Amino acid sequence: MPDLIVLRHGELFLKGDNRRQFEQVLESNLRRTLAPIPEARIERGQGRHFVRCPAAELPAALARLSRVFGLSSLSPAVAVAPELDALGAAAVAAVEEAIARGRRPRSFRVKARRADKSFPHPSPEIGREVGACVVAATGLAVDLEQPELTVGVEIGPVLSFVFVERVAGAGGLPVGVSGKVLLLLSGGIDSPVAGHLMQKRGCRLDAVYFHSPPFTGARTRAKVEQLAARLAPAQGDLTLAVVTFTPIQTAVRDGAPCEMAVILYRRAMMRIASALAQQRGCLALATGENLGQVASQTIENLSCIEATASLLVLRPLVAFDKAETIELARRIGTYDLSTEPYEDCCSLFVPRHPLIRARPEPVERAEAELALEALCAEAVAGAELCSLAG
Ligand code: ATP
Ligand code: MG
Repeated sequence: MPDLIVLRHGELFLKGDNRRQFEQVLESNLRRTLAPIPEARIERGQGRHFVRCPAAELPAALARLSRVFGLSSLSPAVAVAPELDALGAAAVAAVEEAIARGRRPRSFRVKARRADKSFPHPSPEIGREVGACVVAATGLAVDLEQPELTVGVEIGPVLSFVFVERVAGAGGLPVGVSGKVLLLLSGGIDSPVAGHLMQKRGCRLDAVYFHSPPFTGARTRAKVEQLAARLAPAQGDLTLAVVTFTPIQTAVRDGAPCEMAVILYRRAMMRIASALAQQRGCLALATGENLGQVASQTIENLSCIEATASLLVLRPLVAFDKAETIELARRIGTYDLSTEPYEDCCSLFVPRHPLIRARPEPVERAEAELALEALCAEAVAGAELCSLAG
């Protein structure tokens, strides 16, 4: 029975001198992920991480680890002494176990990797010897080109092992290596997916939600908190700043042309989010904005909105089709929550035909009539921080 999980690093190998730091961040993320399984022990070597854990806990550990960013693939494995006889016997046991679990391969091959060059037998010889044991015990045919089962054998200075399964990892980079980003999180479908994708590229998230009581209610706020909580496990915990947006919305409603309302709300969000991000050590903002998903998401509008941000604005969904976003939302478990009814503050006091090609000058002129700077400063000062556990 496998009592070991081999973790293969994803793009870490690309990272040159940063590699050491990346491995440390990955390792601390692995530790946190495995905290509910105290028997699991993490080891490092041979350019990989290993997790040793009792066979009974292995499926649970594997399920948790397959969600950790920074891993390309994982294999349940059996640790074996680096001797040909022992490797052959372990390979036979692994193939028989795969068959007992329902796999019906007609052919196989052995793929050997000799990471410990002091091992006296080169890889092709390991393959031949171990393969001969499997043929003798199971009668399976050898197919080096298109085998239906691959038996992996690795001989390493730290650990030697045998495996037959390879589970896809979550890919991406370990959460934390790319710094912290502030996600503008609404109750919709897109922004939680955008947050997930930023985590996948190694960003730790803080989030900000703009709340407009009494127009948007306690249920909407609770929903956003739940969405934030679903993003938290990838990074341990997540701080959500809830900003009261009502005074800004009413000022815009009462003092600006109504077709500009959404643009003005969004420009205010960018100002407030930039200030919060800087206070909290975030390097960039992230949104669920897309190009052309709704009529108002034009390059002109996105530019006009972005102009008030003082940090880089990342939009990981910019080129997604809605169907692609929905599929990912389902996969990460936010879709059901996102599609529960809620009030969207951006649809407040908005006419049927909002501006779709905003130009900066009229928007700036309209803004000059409003005391937005003071209102934004108040909104920042009044932000309420909630810490959500993963
Ligand atoms: P979402 O599904 O994330 O709401 P959307 O496709 O509905 O996105 P918009 O409602 O136009 O698009 O919002 C664009 C982006 O602006 C959102 O993805 C989010 O990042 C940000 N945003 C909008 N409203 C809020 C809010 N109340 N609080 C925080 N961020 C918001
Ligand atoms: Mg929305």
